[in-house]
Amino acid sequence: MLALLYPLDGEVKGYTREQFLSDLVDECEKDIRGAFKAGAKRVSIDFTEGRLACRNDPNNPWTGRKMLAHFIDLNNRVLDPITPEERRNIGIHTCPGGDCDATHSADVDYAELLPSMFKMNAGYFLMQLSSEKDKEHVYKLCGQHSRADAKGVEQVCFIGVINPQNPRVESPEEVRDALMEASKHIPKERLGSTDDCGFSPFSIDVKPKHGSPDIARDIAFQKITSRVKGTAMASQKLGVA
Ligand SMILES: [Zn+2]
Repeated sequence: MLALLYPLDGEVKGYTREQFLSDLVDECEKDIRGAFKAGAKRVSIDFTEGRLACRNDPNNPWTGRKMLAHFIDLNNRVLDPITPEERRNIGIHTCPGGDCDATHSADVDYAELLPSMFKMNAGYFLMQLSSEKDKEHVYKLCGQHSRADAKGVEQVCFIGVINPQNPRVESPEEVRDALMEASKHIPKERLGSTDDCGFSPFSIDVKPKHGSPDIARDIAFQKITSRVKGTAMASQKLGVA
């Protein structure tokens, strides 16, 4: 998303677009390596712009300019110098936005995004999915387009089983059933669960559907508990525990 800091048209005097992009890619790589050095087990890259890039949104003029392939290419430039061993623990998060219990691109069909998204040579994908209307459609896309070998690393699909935008707490059984359904289309060795998005991505988020950020916090922990329990149930059923 930071690539959008450079003017869409023309060039800045004394700082070419290519120099900017090269600096940006280097700094992103530094950022990722710094996070690992500080003790992170995994580093996930937010790719919320991916789905938004497939939209033509008058509030975001760049969205009409078919920039998805460019974003994918930039992220691969970041990932390229990183070894497959390290990339196992570098992932991509996709969602249609999640702040203030609202979305920016939920109306975009995942079919427009996923075939390109899995071209990024990352080791895992954290995908908003529990709030999708047609989940099977998305499970199938993940099965079709995720790769067992992305330049030496297998791509694990962490499917969203918890909706942070809805205060209703999912049961462990619902989580289990979603994973069982997904396992019909995604190889179980490359399947995992996640929350659709962060529970309160910005500090100014008032969580309107929840009543308040404090209530949302309590609910978040109940939801995470359900995810962990339901995932363990599915693992056992699938024989991957
Ligand atoms: Zn998100």
